[in-house]
Amino acid sequence: LAVSGLTYAYGRQRVLDGVDLTVAPGELVALMGRNGSGKTTLLRTLVGLLRPASGEVQIEGRPIRGQSTAEICRRVGYLPQQPDDLLFAETVCQEVEATLGYHRLLASPPIAPDDLLGRLGLSGQAEAYPRDLSVGQRQRVALAAVTVTRPPLLLLDEPTRGMDYRAKEDLQALLCGWRSEGTGILLVTHDVELVAQAADRVLILDAGRIVADGAPAEVLSGEEVFSPQVAQVFPGCGWLTVEDALAALRAPESTSTP
Ligand code: ADP
Repeated sequence: LAVSGLTYAYGRQRVLDGVDLTVAPGELVALMGRNGSGKTTLLRTLVGLLRPASGEVQIEGRPIRGQSTAEICRRVGYLPQQPDDLLFAETVCQEVEATLGYHRLLASPPIAPDDLLGRLGLSGQAEAYPRDLSVGQRQRVALAAVTVTRPPLLLLDEPTRGMDYRAKEDLQALLCGWRSEGTGILLVTHDVELVAQAADRVLILDAGRIVADGAPAEVLSGEEVFSPQVAQVFPGCGWLTVEDALAALRAPESTSTP
């Protein structure tokens, strides 16, 4: 994904103000920012749900200008903030098959629906009515529906909202698995611990501009708002996760022990 000079306004309110960003294949990039900074608007412009006033978006080297959202979503798995908006079928399995049917891939799915549901921890729910499931499960059903085409790029809007610790860990493992298979992932999240553990890069959006872009250790340790608990307990050490702290404290020549 390559975005340059993207601007968008709701009426007179400019919400995106010259956004430049890239996500490479096999890269997990976190997009953080206060509420109202423009994160959801940005994702919606990337799939053609909103048309930017100026700027360019390229996916796999091809501009998306002029393409419908349906066309763009052949190459992009977009998970909106309200995953329930994507759920309309009678069963979890039918939900996944509906996407395959829409993209004419039912006869030769890029990943077998059963395998995908297994990876998402939903094997036991294949015949369940999606709207009867828990928030975390519904989120994963929606993820299954947008990833069964194996798109090279995922745009995920706060996928961990409402998830418990266990569900979050499972999602993290899944995202890391997709990343290692070459999928590029842009993840909107407020979850600094997830970002510290899993992201390759963090972008911070503030009033429609990218104001920071770098490795989590670089961006999050200097941040007050988006700072993981470990960085707050051990300021100035450059540690973001429990694993960072343990590794540094166990190192025999450690000189930075607080
Ligand atoms: P974030 O995802 O970072 O919370 P949003 O993209 O949802 O930010 O919103 C950015 C700004 O755009 C906010 O000021 C919000 O009130 C405004 N906004 C969002 N959606 C609309 C809309 N449909 N019409 C008018 N203003 C909107």
